[in-house]
Amino acid sequence: MPHHPASDQRTAPWQASVITLFPEMFPGPLAVSLVGQALQAGLWSLATIPLRDFGEGRHRQVDDTPAGGGAGMVLRADVVATAVDRTRAASPKAAALPAIYLSPRGEPLTQELVKELSLGPGVLLLAGRFEGVDERVLEARSFREVSIGDYVLSGGELAAMVLIDACVRLIPGVIGASESLAHESFENGLLEYPQYTRPRDWEGRPIPEVLLSGDHGRIEKWRRAESERLTRSRRPDLLNPNPKD
Ligand code: SAM
Repeated sequence: MPHHPASDQRTAPWQASVITLFPEMFPGPLAVSLVGQALQAGLWSLATIPLRDFGEGRHRQVDDTPAGGGAGMVLRADVVATAVDRTRAASPKAAALPAIYLSPRGEPLTQELVKELSLGPGVLLLAGRFEGVDERVLEARSFREVSIGDYVLSGGELAAMVLIDACVRLIPGVIGASESLAHESFENGLLEYPQYTRPRDWEGRPIPEVLLSGDHGRIEKWRRAESERLTRSRRPDLLNPNPKD
């Protein structure tokens, strides 16, 4: 696992700032369990930037019809840019955050990308709505586009929460035993082996004998073999990520 700066010289907690039309959706699920406790403990921090505050005119309009016609509305470049620029100007910490637009067109959110982002100072996320965001602001403010999967959500807020949750659990101290991260799915390019706990026999299904043997060498070998079997049958793409190579 890459060296994590939080384990030694990290000076400020990992920061998630989210530009959104629906700040009331946050912290939502990010306030519970390990990630929520870590938020309370100050291991990471969360700020929402209400996009509506930067809207135009009496109605604080943030969107307009798509150039060239078509259904729906598009978030305006000038409004989004003002939200980004004012957020960045407010603190050197915010100025250093990489800007990410959650988008079905983006690069896939993988455990590798999650690790990379968790090692940095945090993220400045833009949650889209409607038909999306004017392309020019994505270029002009160097947004990286990230997708959480090949399906279309009604807004970027849930995608932002997914990204934040995945990053925060990698911050040292958020998950008690670092051991529980080491064997997880994707950690070594494989899916995790099956897990069992008590009772020893349940509905006629015993726990595999090897796991009760106390022989750590055999257990390790069995787990590795199971990981490989599951990965081969469910996600062969993980074993050969570049089929043309
Ligand atoms: N018209 C867009 C398209 O076809 O690519 C979809 C817009 S979607 C209805 C509204 C917003 O939801 C997007 O701007 C984006 O922020 C978010 N969103 C939807 N699906 C997503 C996904 N798979 N990953 C990340 N964000 C997503």
